[in-house]
Amino acid sequence: MSVSGSTGVVGIIGHPVTHTLSPAMQNAAFQALKLNYIYIPFDVRPESVAAAIGGLKVLGIRGVNVTIPHKEAVLPYMDSLTPEAKTLGAVNTVVFDGETVTGANTDGPGFIRAMRESLRINPRGRRFVVIGAGGAGRGVAIQLALEGASRVILLNRTPRRASELACEVKQLVPACHVPAMDLSPPALAYGLGAADIVINATPLGMGDRRLPFPAKFLERRHIVCDLVYRPAVTPLLAMARKKGCRTMNGMGMLLHQGALAFELWTGRKAPLIVMRRALEKALRPG
Ligand code: NAP
Repeated sequence: MSVSGSTGVVGIIGHPVTHTLSPAMQNAAFQALKLNYIYIPFDVRPESVAAAIGGLKVLGIRGVNVTIPHKEAVLPYMDSLTPEAKTLGAVNTVVFDGETVTGANTDGPGFIRAMRESLRINPRGRRFVVIGAGGAGRGVAIQLALEGASRVILLNRTPRRASELACEVKQLVPACHVPAMDLSPPALAYGLGAADIVINATPLGMGDRRLPFPAKFLERRHIVCDLVYRPAVTPLLAMARKKGCRTMNGMGMLLHQGALAFELWTGRKAPLIVMRRALEKALRPG
């Protein structure tokens, strides 16, 4: 790839950014479509977020993804927000368009697209239990409610966070039933008993052998989604497959949130096959 004065520069800001898979996925997409763009990771310390956004703007950077810990910190520097970013109060994609800086959030929509694509599930009228009420759990729970899920049960280690999220979701979508509880055995029995689709939005199972809940609560009828993508088969997904459940890992969400960002920056349809292959290669051990 040759870089010239007309190359469009996009990237990611976070701290740290050493393990990001986005450069592999986005640069493969630019090459496949022969687009004169390059994607670069930028390590930005928390105290430098304002300076970084100002700097990216004056340097003519076309857009960036935003990752931990800056997704909320960038909000004051956006001129406008997409409805998803406004609702979530978090930005994962910035578009610099001349003088205007727009903040978008493609995490929730990315999860919905992944679920539609790999499980053929339309969330409308379906019953979900989301375990975890951090950034990812919030994005997924709010998007499920906006897409017409009939029930989104929120279970979180810190129940106050689940209750706060439930209030937000109910305010946005009053028709959605949103109970909030902790991870105690009665809460798990209720939550998994009353849901068909189970989503792990905690880091449990990422680099450890821990399950987000004991195996006895899972039944063959459940469809199980893990937002964790490393390893590809998490302990939760291994247990679910053993029980005969249909499963999906977090790679589809990663792919589709990136594809949506690509489309915002370039106005072109993202080459999903190429991007998925690049992600799979980057995730392969060794
Ligand atoms: P986060 O904001 O730090 O939230 C973490 C959540 O997990 C909180 O609800 C936390 O509960 C819970 N948790 C953490 N440790 C726990 C433990 N030992 N036992 C029970 N609950 C625990 O993180 P996040 O950004 O939401 O990310 C969560 C996971 O989703 C990560 O593994 C991340 O890699 C993955 N993710 C995937 C994608 C994708 O594209 N596939 C996108 C975003 C995130 P408390 O509230 O009690 O602390």
